[in-house]
Amino acid sequence: MKTIYVDNAATTAMSDRAIAAMTPYLKEIYGNPSSLHTAGQVAKEALENARADVALCLNADPREIYFTSGGSESDNQCIRSAALNGLKKGKKHIITTAFEHHAVLHTLKKLEKEGFEVTYLDVHADGLVTAKQVEEAIRPDTALVTVMYANNEVGTIQPVREIGEVCKKAGVVFHTDAVQAVGHIPVDVKADNIDMLSLSAHKFHGAKGVGAVYCRKGIPLNTFVEGGAQERGRRAGTENLAGIAAMAAALKEACENMSANSEKMLALRDRIIDGLLKIPHSKLNGDKVKRLPSNVNMCFEGIEGEGLLLHLDDRGICASSGSACTSGSLDPSHVLLALGLPHEVAHGSLRISLSEYNTDEDADAILKAVPEVVEYLRGISPVWEELEKGERKHLI
Ligand SMILES: *Cc1c(COP(=O)(O)O)cnc(C)c1O
Repeated sequence: MKTIYVDNAATTAMSDRAIAAMTPYLKEIYGNPSSLHTAGQVAKEALENARADVALCLNADPREIYFTSGGSESDNQCIRSAALNGLKKGKKHIITTAFEHHAVLHTLKKLEKEGFEVTYLDVHADGLVTAKQVEEAIRPDTALVTVMYANNEVGTIQPVREIGEVCKKAGVVFHTDAVQAVGHIPVDVKADNIDMLSLSAHKFHGAKGVGAVYCRKGIPLNTFVEGGAQERGRRAGTENLAGIAAMAAALKEACENMSANSEKMLALRDRIIDGLLKIPHSKLNGDKVKRLPSNVNMCFEGIEGEGLLLHLDDRGICASSGSACTSGSLDPSHVLLALGLPHEVAHGSLRISLSEYNTDEDADAILKAVPEVVEYLRGISPVWEELEKGERKHLI
């Protein structure tokens, strides 16, 4: 049975170009970029070429790019750094949204315990926050605004440029977790008024365990991994050169093909959304237009997302419920709850996240399997029975 992989918001397959870019650094070019001999200097040159490639895709200066182990580390470093530098000026307030990735939310929870005050902006039912909300929340003691570029569960694209503008006017540092955006939609750190940004290679067909921070010139970036002077003293440790070279190649490829990939995925996405909305008592989560070309997120009343996933997996379809699967808990997703969905509805969620490797046949298979599985699960669901008998009110 062919596997249909539609969980690209969780991770992606590496592209051939990324693998090809990586291999020389696993074999012939194994020098340490910090070594002064030729082998080291060849590696150093490759490292700086990769940095220049990544910078170019973001419209940044290469000196504003710092390599890390991925999105989580980048989020931690940016947020902690901005918080600590705010504190030096007596600023202890941070603004974020209720539906950030846990790499952001858990870092902020820790900072709250350390004496920071965090404002969690409400997310509208369409999965968006506004620049006005940010503007109204800014105080004289605000050290940082951190708002994700695109949400990893519902795929909604936030008005980052406007939020950046508001922060710029107020003189507040603006960080964005752009892990779902970079390589997928145009991201321009200058035009978007971004001070700090996190990205991760494995979300755009690079390797796992490698990412980067963009930190605008003049914004201090603190060190949290102590040791050697790698990354201009901002992150110690011998660089993951193979991973970094693959990331640069994958990003270059993603940026070159962005409009063609988007067009292809948009067509698939909208076909899947329109098809699945024909299922009675179903709902699309997040704005239909201001969303990633790759993202479908739906709720089906009367079923459990986990059950749906397992049955789809049996049919070779790898999707996600978008719920708190990492914690192994059966709590519904904090993102869907932030959008105001009732618990019962949020439980029945399905996230399909596409890549350009998906085909029309994949969409056909999804459009056949999901309605069948939903019907089957409803057939054995006591909740659905109550809904049908009118003992319980339909919520969607
Ligand atoms: C995947 C993801 C992360 C974490 O990135 P890793 O490289 O897996 O650590 C952070 N933020 C968002 C929005 C993500 O989708």
